[in-house]
Amino acid sequence: MTADRIADVWGTRTPMGPGAPWPQRVDQHLVDGLTDQDVDRWVQSACVLCSNGCGLDIAVRDDRMVGVRGRADDRVSHGRLGPKGLFGWQGQSRDRLLRPMVRRHGKLEETTWEDAMGVVVSRSRELLESRGPLSHAFYTSGQLMIEEYYTLAVIGKAGLGTPHMDGNTRLCTATAAAALKETFGTDGQPGSYTDLDHADAVFHYGHNVAETQTVLWARMLDRLEGSDPPRHVCVDPRRTAVAQRSDVHLAVRPGTNLALMNGLLREVIHRGWVDEEYVAAHTRGFDELVATVEPYTPSHVADICRVSARDLEAAAEIFGTSERIVSTVLQGFYQSHQATAASCQVNNLHLLRGMLGRPGAGILQMNGQPTAQNNRETGVDGDLSGFRNWENESHVRELAELWDVDPMKIPHWAPPTHAMQIMRYVEQGSIGLLWVAGTNPAVSLPDLERVRRILSSDSVLVVVNESFPNETTELADVVLPAALWGEKTGTFTNVDRTVHLSEQAVRPPGEARSDLDIWVDYARRMDLRDRSGRPIPRWETPEDAFDGWRDCSRGRPCDYSGMSYELLRGSPGIQWPCTEDAPTGTERIYTDHVFNTQDDYCETYGHDLLTGASTTPEQHRAARFDGRARLKAAEWTPAPDAPDEDYPLRLGTGRTVYHFHTRTKTGRAPELDAAAPEAWVEISPEDAEPLGVAEGDIVRVESRRGAIEVPARIAGVRPGAVFVPFHYGDVDKGDRPSRAANELTMSVWDPVSKQPAFKGGAVRVTRVRAGDGPAPAPPTTPSPEGA
Ligand code: SF4
Repeated sequence: MTADRIADVWGTRTPMGPGAPWPQRVDQHLVDGLTDQDVDRWVQSACVLCSNGCGLDIAVRDDRMVGVRGRADDRVSHGRLGPKGLFGWQGQSRDRLLRPMVRRHGKLEETTWEDAMGVVVSRSRELLESRGPLSHAFYTSGQLMIEEYYTLAVIGKAGLGTPHMDGNTRLCTATAAAALKETFGTDGQPGSYTDLDHADAVFHYGHNVAETQTVLWARMLDRLEGSDPPRHVCVDPRRTAVAQRSDVHLAVRPGTNLALMNGLLREVIHRGWVDEEYVAAHTRGFDELVATVEPYTPSHVADICRVSARDLEAAAEIFGTSERIVSTVLQGFYQSHQATAASCQVNNLHLLRGMLGRPGAGILQMNGQPTAQNNRETGVDGDLSGFRNWENESHVRELAELWDVDPMKIPHWAPPTHAMQIMRYVEQGSIGLLWVAGTNPAVSLPDLERVRRILSSDSVLVVVNESFPNETTELADVVLPAALWGEKTGTFTNVDRTVHLSEQAVRPPGEARSDLDIWVDYARRMDLRDRSGRPIPRWETPEDAFDGWRDCSRGRPCDYSGMSYELLRGSPGIQWPCTEDAPTGTERIYTDHVFNTQDDYCETYGHDLLTGASTTPEQHRAARFDGRARLKAAEWTPAPDAPDEDYPLRLGTGRTVYHFHTRTKTGRAPELDAAAPEAWVEISPEDAEPLGVAEGDIVRVESRRGAIEVPARIAGVRPGAVFVPFHYGDVDKGDRPSRAANELTMSVWDPVSKQPAFKGGAVRVTRVRAGDGPAPAPPTTPSPEGA
């Protein structure tokens, strides 16, 4: 039976009351009219098209993937799959890169692995000898496996010694990590998806869960349709499906999230909803928080955020009076001005009410990509592996002993280099080898005109592990064909710390190899060795790499030491920490309300949220957090790139339900491509009318950095704001004007998380001509109030 998740995105309701188990509902899709009888075998895996990580089995016939089926006992999905999970994998069989390519005389030419790796290794050796490890940078993804990330982390940190490592997770989850670290001392989600089954209130902060994690929204819808449903509160400038089902919708003006959060905190404090005993026992910083939020009265916040004071008070009352609250946060906060500061205030609200560590009381600082969590855990985002603290000598020594290298080899003399800074160093010429894997920066980074110039520079060898031709391979010097999900074995972790094993189902096409194989090959050719003369890394297979990671994670918050491939096989997913003492995993952390802020355990000593200035180890010791959460406060400041007469509107960019990132996979899946084939811009009726813009008209959206031309959708976005989906690139652009949202965005980032502020830049919209009909926006696009 094929589920129609294109027209019916969230599927049939299976209502449940509070605390009841979420009923199973198995979704399945087989191609070409095949039935179960035609399937040779089902191979265990999980979906890698968003951070939900729904467990599924891959159907294989004649060494070909022919379908997927949700795993009924999976703890994340209970058998459900959304549109991307059901159909997205089909894109994997089209337009694949089959052989390595090297650019010669300005043109990419197919070649052998021997030749391509020879070019990489020769440049790498030459740069290491002439300039040292700071000449090397790696920019990876949120879509690889733990085994691949950890292998690269060891090569980069112990083999080469470069601090220039980051992932495109910088664009999507860097603020989740930063907010958790600032408040609780280390990364790691306090909550569990099962908290949603118990909650009596759910708050969505800049998180359009209905489109970004459809199966999670199905879980929430089932609570909304069941007995005693929870109340929902939505903070979003758009009238999304989440907003439409919410009791309170705060359609906040872009760039004012922190003012709104300070207002909510002030209300909770003033109206006596603070659990004073909890705050005294388990937190530090309450007095400063009270002083910081005091000016944010409801009327002042209403003025800044352009929301009604009454709605703000109503939202605060729901937070202040509910017994079990789950908060989810995503890009509306993370990709905005003052991202970490605003996200920390979500943590603060929970701490003020002691709303953690018990069923129904949880925080999900969400991830965008499926394996973003693992990029952070293993340290390929530049942090030290296992949530260790680069400023803590004993943490560096632990890793040096584990990897058997001199501690000085491990870069820890300065903060790791974030993605935007890596691009700057390439631009300045100090990085001579940039290795990109599983990501498409020529569409996804802000200010694309500049990014294209950087990637085309003669001073850098750009090596790309990729599976499809795309905007970035067009600019690369060496392209290495990479195996995808289902073509390799590995593990990954979703947003509520659930680890799944994904087994190889079919062989990679042509000469494609897994990223693990590619990096091990590079390390062997470079003859990277530890102090005892053993090769770095010491493994070659995924399972051995996983065992290496288990050792590295031991004793840290993300402890996988009790996990194994054997345990994961056939399991519904296991949540870390999983240790000898907790062999089946841990549903929620911080149940003892002791947080990871001890001086010798924390991952960071913290930062000033306004400026990003680091707290020193001495200052941290003096503050005596000792396991108490840090209540960090900051005042709101106006966002950069303020609208003016020339550019009067604020831009937001984001996802649509049918696509993932730059559409390299989902754009090749026929059902998904047909459902959302083209870009568009959403504009409110109030802004469209004076511009003479009607539904479907082709408009020019222009910022101080670039312009795009796309059809207009008259939509439920707040006046003064416009929205453009970020998925669409220009690889096949020809003569037509660009449609890539990042032509418009700013090279501005949050001072703590270093996450670019994709949302909030000033733009103008002008009508170009009439269109051929309505804009190609999917039906999930927000419709105006009352429409
Ligand atoms: S919700 Fe996410 S993980 Fe689940 S099927 Fe959809 S895209 Fe895949």
